[in-house]
Amino acid sequence: MPLRVAIIPVTLFQQNCSLIWDDADKRAAVVDPGGDLPRILAAIGETGVTVEKIVLTHGHIDHAGGAAELKERLGVSVEGPHRDDKFMLDRLVESGLKYGMTGSRNLAPDRWLEEGDELTVGELVFDVLHCPGHSPGSVAFISRAEPFAIVGDVLFRGSVGRTDIPGGDHAALIRSIKTKLLPLGDEIAFLCGHGPMSTFGEERETNPFLR
Ligand SMILES: [Zn+2]
Ligand SMILES: [Zn+2]
Repeated sequence: MPLRVAIIPVTLFQQNCSLIWDDADKRAAVVDPGGDLPRILAAIGETGVTVEKIVLTHGHIDHAGGAAELKERLGVSVEGPHRDDKFMLDRLVESGLKYGMTGSRNLAPDRWLEEGDELTVGELVFDVLHCPGHSPGSVAFISRAEPFAIVGDVLFRGSVGRTDIPGGDHAALIRSIKTKLLPLGDEIAFLCGHGPMSTFGEERETNPFLR
């Protein structure tokens, strides 16, 4: 399996920041560096990977708050989320202060992602799906070679993303899950923004929000 993943819980929200890499050449991406940069940098050191980019699933503080500083430290670009989350990235400092997160910085990504785009990490290729609902600009990454997806806060094991925050839309969220994610196949394992992993099949059968 050339795709490797390490999960690094960050911020007071215990957000699943992840390091994903191509085991063949150790080129990596940091997904959703919300904060706690020393922890992320330690994981990069322990795995011995070379980070070539930062990737964001959406613009919430626990996912994007540390991206600008990490970008500067590593000298890499930031890809994602969809530009519909720009209003959140423009206010990361403000929203961080609400939670006592003083290291957060506003962020202008180097590349906005759209439905149908490709995201590469080393030789790994992911399809990008725009999955609005939890936030307007949420995106999911689907691995082409292995049954694996990264879905941010769109879908969780036994739950779905909250939609009671500005930009949230519950009907749109359920539509994103049912029309874009679940049809990809029951066997696909997914990493979500909080809590344990699951598979699309497990959620299709047991998730009470998808009945
Ligand atoms: Zn979120
Ligand atoms: Zn989150």
